[in-house]
Amino acid sequence: MSGASKFAVIGGSRGYDLLARHSFGEETDSFELDSPFGKSGIIHSFGGETPFYFLSRHGDFGYEITAPFVNYRANIWALKLLGVERIISWSQPGSLVPARAPGSFCVPDDIIDQTRNRAGTFYKNTGLGFIRLGEPFCPEIRKSLDGGLSSAGADFRKSGVYCCTEGPRLETPAEVKMFRKMGADMVGMTLAPEAFLAREMEICYASVCMMSNFAEGIKKRPFKKGELFEGMLTEKESAKVASSFELFPEIISGALGGLAGMERACDCGKAMERYRKAGKVGDDLLDDIRSFGE
Ligand SMILES: [Zn+2]
Repeated sequence: MSGASKFAVIGGSRGYDLLARHSFGEETDSFELDSPFGKSGIIHSFGGETPFYFLSRHGDFGYEITAPFVNYRANIWALKLLGVERIISWSQPGSLVPARAPGSFCVPDDIIDQTRNRAGTFYKNTGLGFIRLGEPFCPEIRKSLDGGLSSAGADFRKSGVYCCTEGPRLETPAEVKMFRKMGADMVGMTLAPEAFLAREMEICYASVCMMSNFAEGIKKRPFKKGELFEGMLTEKESAKVASSFELFPEIISGALGGLAGMERACDCGKAMERYRKAGKVGDDLLDDIRSFGE
């Protein structure tokens, strides 16, 4: 577990491609960790100016685990165990807004959780976990992502609402209409419960999203058999998505650099303080959760 760092990056789709191409620099170590909820994904340590851990959410060698089957609790547990205080993640949702084209980026500031079957808390049967979510994504990491996106020259928006569905199937046109009416700007499958579990562990968490396509019904697209997304993307959009994807390492390294110079002054690290004051948890949340049992 060398390269101890207070930073971690959770990579979305094709994180494994960037790993295979050594896009994050010199890897110093890789390992899995056990948790009361099972094994984490493989965690890679990277050195460089701002050392960080990297975990590819969907697997290490290809798209092996779809969103509903990611062990979110084991992953967040493992990062907490390593002493991580700030997590940057990325996700590639579908756009619900015609003006937000595939290949453009967004740093979401809010989230609607439409998942159904995921373990969403570390505090089952404990009476704990009633935590405020006025800012579900860490404002400091969001700011650092703005910096990373600007310096990478990316086309991006500083805010947006992410709707998280269960998956792995894509959404129906009626669902897409509903999500738009609910105020969502993009629809994906991965940020819930990941963001909430990080907050329960008092870890800062925010995400940078790259629109991978228009969600069903936003643009008229005929079904094309045997293609990725069955024809939801035009060739031009596909090329734009591919070139935007290549910006992830630069965006992340810019954001990490920004964070490294930023004192942690947000409220994320105090999410459980009320329970701590009441003597229901101590300083070591992992120890407390272990004692609660599954
Ligand atoms: Zn924070």
